[in-house]
Amino acid sequence: MNSNGIIAVVSGFAGTGKGTVMKKLVEEYDHYALSISMTTRTPRPGEVDGREYFFTDEESFTKAVKEDKLIEHACYCGKYYGTPREYVDKQLQNGKDVLLEIDIQGALQIKQRFPDSYLIFIMPPSSEELVRRLKGRGTETDEQIKNRLKRAGEESEGIEKYDAIVVNEDIAECASDINRLIEASRFRPSHNEDFIRSVREGIRSL
Ligand code: 5GP
Repeated sequence: MNSNGIIAVVSGFAGTGKGTVMKKLVEEYDHYALSISMTTRTPRPGEVDGREYFFTDEESFTKAVKEDKLIEHACYCGKYYGTPREYVDKQLQNGKDVLLEIDIQGALQIKQRFPDSYLIFIMPPSSEELVRRLKGRGTETDEQIKNRLKRAGEESEGIEKYDAIVVNEDIAECASDINRLIEASRFRPSHNEDFIRSVREGIRSL
């Protein structure tokens, strides 16, 4: 069987608590590496460059895209976001499972480039709870919240393209569900193509 790491993409509407669930996963299990994205949006209070994101300007972002330094990138609510290639390659080579917390546009690019990747969508328990959490975190203006809810409505159209959904009712439980899904995803034929081929060819040559 294939012992290489898996690229696990995790998406969800703004306010579903994805970031907290990701932190929990990395704390609880040592086989995960969390990718840090590059973005042109400004840091929120408490965010640190190189920890939550690599904060950058449009010029440097465009340069990174041109030089093929990002494995995917997208525009979300007017700002650019992308996943740096180098970290992902290095962690996969080290046998780690790499977590990408990215939006649906990026998720679909990853699936196309890496058919072996595994896509998980985190759902809120309900639409009412989503609004409550988004307003409760107090980091965005009313205008930004409106924008993000509009975006959530659009994103919800693509949920069926994911491999699995989990509900974030309880952070620890949600992290544990995601871990179980990723563990199980190692058994997919698409993650074991070389192994299947070698056994098949062996049988045929008997
Ligand atoms: P936020 O500004 O709230 O941190 O993130 C906004 C959205 O951008 C979220 O849906 C988040 O998952 C997504 N995002 C963060 N990093 C990336 C990235 O590297 N690529 C893509 N495509 N989306 C990202």
